[in-house]
Amino acid sequence: MDFFKKFVLHRSIFMCRKSKGKPNGKKPAPEEKKLYLEPEYTKSRITDFEFKELVMLPREIDLNEWLASNTTTFFHHINLQYSTISEFCTGESCQTMAVCNTQYYWYDERGKKIKCTAPQYVDFVMSSVQKLVTDEDVFPTKYGKEFPNSFESLVKKICKYLFHVLAHIYSSHFKETLALELHGHLNTLYTHFILFIREFNLVDPKETTIMDDLTEVLCSSSGSSSNGSGNGSSNSAGAQNHVKER
Ligand SMILES: [Zn+2]
Repeated sequence: MDFFKKFVLHRSIFMCRKSKGKPNGKKPAPEEKKLYLEPEYTKSRITDFEFKELVMLPREIDLNEWLASNTTTFFHHINLQYSTISEFCTGESCQTMAVCNTQYYWYDERGKKIKCTAPQYVDFVMSSVQKLVTDEDVFPTKYGKEFPNSFESLVKKICKYLFHVLAHIYSSHFKETLALELHGHLNTLYTHFILFIREFNLVDPKETTIMDDLTEVLCSSSGSSSNGSGNGSSNSAGAQNHVKER
């Protein structure tokens, strides 16, 4: 907490010296070829499992329990996947949290926009998610303890940020992931995650548009019945209604 405050303060001072708007001197790469879209890489997975079925809410399980368990697992896996390339994701190599030509900013607790490097952004994401998933009042693990009313919106927020991290790995560190031969893991994790957030309508489709080209390739070959966002199957529509019940 202290660290967070200090960091925010430091960044605020730092920001005053910088001109607004422009990324830190790094020009956006014009239409760079996306290596991760090459068919020889997109077909690489560690399993052919039907993720569409895997993400669906099992009949006897409480929806919030299901969301909590999956969200926590995705957090751990995405954190682990990022850790494999984190030594290459530095303040030098990734001066902003960029995904393709888009930059993300962190917002502090007061909603103040913070410009930061990619590793700082990822650190903000991971620290704040870690704090939430281990908070007994937000992700209760004890029998009989209720989920808070804000649970669904917090899960949505977590998923949005985890998506940014995954997208950054693809757009800025796919070469390193390839060199480590971990692209099969990344593709599998991404497919599973996207089908999960779609099933429960957890991230605004506008947010994920940036990676639609990849999603199209990976998820259409993974038993997903809908490629777009608006015309979900009856299953996902049911799940969405279910989510809103709380
Ligand atoms: Zn990076």
